[in-house]
Amino acid sequence: MSDSRNDHDHGPTMPGRRSVLKAGVVLAAAPLVGGVASRVEAATKPVANGPFTARAYGNTSATGPLGPLQTKRRAVGPNDVLLDVLYCGICHSDIHQARNEWSSLPTVYPCVPGHEIIGRVQAVGSAVTKFKVGDVGGVGCMVDSCGTCENCLADREQNCLKGATFTYNSPDRATGENTLGGYSEKMVVSERFVIRIPPGADLAATAPLLCAGITTFSPMQHWKLSSRQRVGVIGLGGLGHMAVKLAAARKAEVTVFTTSPGKIADARRLGAQEAVLWTDTAGMKRLANHFDLLISTVPESYPMQPFMDLLALDGTFVNVGALNQLEGGLIGMSMAFGRKSLAGSVIGGIAETQEVIDYCAARGIKADVELIRPEQINQAYDRVVGKDVRYRFVIDLTTGKKA
Ligand SMILES: [Zn+2]
Ligand SMILES: [Zn+2]
Repeated sequence: MSDSRNDHDHGPTMPGRRSVLKAGVVLAAAPLVGGVASRVEAATKPVANGPFTARAYGNTSATGPLGPLQTKRRAVGPNDVLLDVLYCGICHSDIHQARNEWSSLPTVYPCVPGHEIIGRVQAVGSAVTKFKVGDVGGVGCMVDSCGTCENCLADREQNCLKGATFTYNSPDRATGENTLGGYSEKMVVSERFVIRIPPGADLAATAPLLCAGITTFSPMQHWKLSSRQRVGVIGLGGLGHMAVKLAAARKAEVTVFTTSPGKIADARRLGAQEAVLWTDTAGMKRLANHFDLLISTVPESYPMQPFMDLLALDGTFVNVGALNQLEGGLIGMSMAFGRKSLAGSVIGGIAETQEVIDYCAARGIKADVELIRPEQINQAYDRVVGKDVRYRFVIDLTTGKKA
């Protein structure tokens, strides 16, 4: 990609990249008096207002491949930041949404997926205090919420009673238009929903923490997974590999359940004590009544009773992967006599997402990623569905940019 294309895509009201960067340099050099000076400085700088045109990658029907699309990004409001997207992970949810596979969340086309986004701040609104031009920010699965309901007030925007605005395929609270995700050169997002990325982070390998990381971290926090407790991770893909790393960081005893014999050795490398194939009936029998917590990352429904049998008394099975109708077959007697719980969990709030990013940065925890170019998205989708990814594809959007 050439610089000239980037300039072209800035749209009519967007200053050239050079002048934006220059504004960032001026800001960085401004005296900081409790942050006030930089805010005043930001307000007086020429801010790119938009709306912007932006090249993105998406599809226009459930069966159509993803390809380049010209999209529109809303104008930068007082509380918004404009991100120049550098990296975006590919989550299995992206595939479900692009292919309209969630009956309860039909896809609006054109669809631009992507909710593991790392970008550099290119412009800020007049009231923005959290970021300045040149900072690195992350965006996960949400870009807005009502901000006033009891769940939002408790930092649980993902459980917003009026419905969180998801990063793609959601009505934008500001414009009413369908949100478009991070397979895109630009995003305009309220600063409240942009996560600070600590300096020195491996940006490509940090992107997947914004969905896969928080999705598996949040249940460990809620169910208070502690050292020496026994946790089983069901499915070893993007979410599963982060679950193993995050549980190992807590010094829990981790067992992986996989359908892929080729992932057994990987599970140990990632931090699991043991890995068991679903088809290993002797192994499953040996682990009966064993686990305090099971985290299921499998993105499809499957018979869950064989795993319920593995929970110890008062254990909890948390499904974070399958969002369609779950398969029946759970046996009431087994759950009652073991006082076992079946639970669901979805991503985490913004404060908790910041927490997992900081937690991982402090411990050097990152995703195992394979970088791809935007034109390889369709191949990557096929490989994710075919369980041929170790363990997250990340789209590199830095070509022609200074990452
Ligand atoms: Zn995701
Ligand atoms: Zn709310």
